[in-house]
Amino acid sequence: MAGVAKKVRGRVLFLLSGFTILFLLLIVRLFYIQVIDSAEYQQKAMEQWTRDVPVPSKRGVIYDRNGKELATSAPAYEIYVRPVEVKDIDKENVAQTLSEILQMDKADLLMKVSAKKDTQIIKKKVDSDTVKILREKNIKGLIFVDDSKRFYPQSNFASYILGFINYDNQGSDGVEATFEKYLNGFPGRDIKMTDAQGRELPGSDRKYYEPEDGLNLILTIDEVIQHFAEKAVESSLIETKAKRVTAIVMEPKTGDVLAMAVKPDYDNNNPRKIPEDLLEQWSSMSSTEQYNALYKTWRNPAISDTYEPGSTFKTITSAAGLEEGVVKPEDTFYCSGSVLVAGRRLKCWRSYNPHGSQTFVQGVQNSCNPVFIEVAQRLGKEKFYKYIQGFGFGSPTNIKLMGEASGIVRNLNAVGPVELANNAFGQGITVTPIQLVTAVSAIINDGYLMEPRIAKKLVDSEGKTVYDFQPREVRQVISKGTSATMRKILESAVAEGSGRGAYLPGYKVGGKTGTAQKAENGRYVPGKYVASFVGFAPANDPRVTVLVVIDEPSGSYYGGVIATPVAKSIISDTLRYLDVKPQYTEEEAKQLMKGKVVVPEVRNMKLKEAKKLLSESKLKYRLEEEQGEPTEDSLVLDQTPRASAKVDEGSVIIIYAKPKE
Ligand SMILES: [Zn+2]
Repeated sequence: MAGVAKKVRGRVLFLLSGFTILFLLLIVRLFYIQVIDSAEYQQKAMEQWTRDVPVPSKRGVIYDRNGKELATSAPAYEIYVRPVEVKDIDKENVAQTLSEILQMDKADLLMKVSAKKDTQIIKKKVDSDTVKILREKNIKGLIFVDDSKRFYPQSNFASYILGFINYDNQGSDGVEATFEKYLNGFPGRDIKMTDAQGRELPGSDRKYYEPEDGLNLILTIDEVIQHFAEKAVESSLIETKAKRVTAIVMEPKTGDVLAMAVKPDYDNNNPRKIPEDLLEQWSSMSSTEQYNALYKTWRNPAISDTYEPGSTFKTITSAAGLEEGVVKPEDTFYCSGSVLVAGRRLKCWRSYNPHGSQTFVQGVQNSCNPVFIEVAQRLGKEKFYKYIQGFGFGSPTNIKLMGEASGIVRNLNAVGPVELANNAFGQGITVTPIQLVTAVSAIINDGYLMEPRIAKKLVDSEGKTVYDFQPREVRQVISKGTSATMRKILESAVAEGSGRGAYLPGYKVGGKTGTAQKAENGRYVPGKYVASFVGFAPANDPRVTVLVVIDEPSGSYYGGVIATPVAKSIISDTLRYLDVKPQYTEEEAKQLMKGKVVVPEVRNMKLKEAKKLLSESKLKYRLEEEQGEPTEDSLVLDQTPRASAKVDEGSVIIIYAKPKE
């Protein structure tokens, strides 16, 4: 018996130890599942049983200063699929249908509808027409979520101010980028508990987090003035065959940017459209090259391009000289055609026929280089540079747009007598268009430099103001008195000087022209010019400052010929729109009573014949020549106004003649 008992005990022991081992193994496994691997298991369980769909927020609308919509969001949809709801035998067909309607890769779609996950995104930004077609197919497992698609009602309009939206719904460039965090809002979520087939479980928790809509942005831009500027810039681009034409319209008292027009531009609704000049080589370009080419078209020249301002910078030299009292309007200067500076002979543009004796005011009208060299010398580099920096050159203006450049202003230690003299007439220094228009606005706005303002307000969907961006004064650079003197001098530069092309009867226009050779890699490039004009009106109480910059025109390159008419057109349209009533001087009133004459074509005529024809047509003329002395037999290269324009009898026609070889 004892033997049997022993056997039984042994078997029990054996069984017991076996159970113990099994039990221990189970514990280990449980520990592993519950503790070590639980996160993964839980997530798998949650994926099967919850449906979590993002709810997009509505992006804010961008308005002009008068409430006109410049960027809005049109209805669109995000399409998701729940693979568990698509039967295995249907998966192939569903992928095929989706691929045809949405024009997507079928293999990718098949992977998505077969995925072992709950919801899968198929496509964003699908328009409502396409969604309608898809809905009619009654495909089980498809989910349509309301979203919006950015829409710019006027396509190529204020392109560089607005910017565009990238594939991730974020602002790229322009105010879309700088105000991204306000415009975007916060997306919500819709979380439901479901069974394995994706049906919502009755009585289960459903969590819905409402999206928060983005704020609406009100710009300082006036849609109507922007139209005037774009129209003028577009026709200038066609006429001058320039590389680029830029115009900025600013309200000098506030620094408000009323318009910023650049041509060529891009279509904000389709920013990745292949630039026309690259259509042929596009497919052979690398993706980096393609991106760089597109990036160039998005770059805003009004704030990112720097150029030598040339004679428009004489406004800065004049303001500094008058403010420091080193020059008075009636002071006399003498131009002998050139000035010797530290052994270097710096020429006046009219060295062949020097200006001779002239007052300072006449010096501005004549744009005579030696006058400005002398003013800068009287100031000395410390004082002159105090004003150059005071007017904001060398630093960004802090306009709320992407990619602003600072321009190049020398370190004071690197300014010798020659550099000082060159700076006096706008050479050896680079500026951005926004810097120049802001500085000249300060000169005529009682000396107050304003920060250029592009955004006025952020408002919520009920129209309540959330952020109010007030005009910001940076500093006062010159006194009210100097500013008033500058307005008068610059008015005379348009009425009597090279800015004549911007003369507008009934409205006092002030301004200064500029014609500068382009520098590349430290050298001036023959045949490449920047023609510009900066002006303001009415001169006694300015409502607008306008800068026009024509980059690399193909024919005539004089600021006085090609840039003044663009500014004149913008100023004339804008002042009428702003309801500024014309006030004719006695002289202008007399002119109004006189007859109109049609300007004859004098280009390519000999100078003496052109003069004869103009006086026969009851017109006066003024010979402007920046490149050398013409003879009576020299050919007329250009004229302003151009032939067939209707002008008052006795008007001045500016002519440019080919210099003697
Ligand atoms: Zn001169």
